[in-house]
Amino acid sequence: MITRGDIAEIISEYDLEKLAIGTIGSHSALNIFKGAKEEGFKTVCVCKESDAIVYKKFPLADELLIVEDFSELMGDRIQERLRELNTILVPHGSFTAYLDMRQLAEGLRVPIFGNRHLLRWEASREGQEEWLRRAGLKIPRAFKGPEEIDRLAIAKLPGARGGRGYFLANSPESFRSKFSEMVARGLLREDDAERIHIQEYILGVNVYPHYFSSIIRGDVEFFGVDKRYESAVDAMGRIPADDQLWMRISPTYTIVGNIPLTLRESILPELIRMGDDVQRAAEELAPPGIIGPFCLETIITDDLEIFTFEISARIVAGTNVEIGTSPYAYLRYGGGMYTGRRIAVEIKDALRHGRVLEILT
Ligand code: AMP
Ligand code: AMP
Repeated sequence: MITRGDIAEIISEYDLEKLAIGTIGSHSALNIFKGAKEEGFKTVCVCKESDAIVYKKFPLADELLIVEDFSELMGDRIQERLRELNTILVPHGSFTAYLDMRQLAEGLRVPIFGNRHLLRWEASREGQEEWLRRAGLKIPRAFKGPEEIDRLAIAKLPGARGGRGYFLANSPESFRSKFSEMVARGLLREDDAERIHIQEYILGVNVYPHYFSSIIRGDVEFFGVDKRYESAVDAMGRIPADDQLWMRISPTYTIVGNIPLTLRESILPELIRMGDDVQRAAEELAPPGIIGPFCLETIITDDLEIFTFEISARIVAGTNVEIGTSPYAYLRYGGGMYTGRRIAVEIKDALRHGRVLEILT
């Protein structure tokens, strides 16, 4: 386990005048780097050769550390270099998707902006549910196994896989046949069966509010909202129902991009309270709770009930629609504020007040 003491020791070797902000090259890296640069930090990108083109075309990374596999982040070579560069790492969805969260919590000897102990809660479905329930949020009913399915249900895999391999089923039989179909199509593996999580399907639109929990200012800020653009589900409405039946299409949810949203103002009070409640619950689970950005993944029904089906305790790629600003960031900050930059501002605030250890784990 990496303790506060370990982080304090690493930071004591750092030149705080020359801090760099680093992350893995993917997901929301451009957002994080742009924000860091705008606030005057150096940036470090741990990146695959094949993706380096992004960080050359958008020249936002001062250092590229090329790896063959992101798991090299857990090795000594990359970690030593990151410490030499006085790096604070900002975790995002590619960390949860490609790295082992337990290993990260216990073995990554580079300071993280964020609460690494909460990333583990995020990686486990049971952990997430417990957290959301403690916060008093409405969550979809979970089925213990396929034999319990008695209504439309959605089957999902743990971890941020971007909806890949999700499918719908309305009975134990349809679960089994759809599962085999997903395996045959290469979207799932046989051994995924034990890890699949089955939830009641909520009919409504998906809404992903983004928040920023500031430890230094003691507040949860409402940053913006997106919805997702998913293949193939968002393509199905373009095909007449007759043809859908004939083709026997079932929806899949592979994320392709994000679309900005503004909400009915009357929905805001509940969403804002939900953000505060989630942070209060997180303070109990792993003090000081969420450090920095987080997102609730919700579905809003036609009678305006808000169901939360997931939480991400770190920056989400949906905030990329707000690089520059969002309507809600504008309302608070005027132009030019977005999640990547807000992270850099928080680090600067912490440095100015001599409180940097409070925002690192
Ligand atoms: P990637 O590095 O693009 O594979 O992203 C890592 C994980 O983050 C993916 O498995 C997705 O679950 C998630 N992700 C990536 N991009 C987005 C996005 N634009 N919106 C939501 N989730 C995303
Ligand atoms: P995720 O990767 O968890 O963001 O979810 C991918 C897709 O599945 C999104 O379009 C969600 O709206 C949808 N989804 C997830 N859980 C549910 C649920 N319980 N009911 C309805 N749709 C869901």
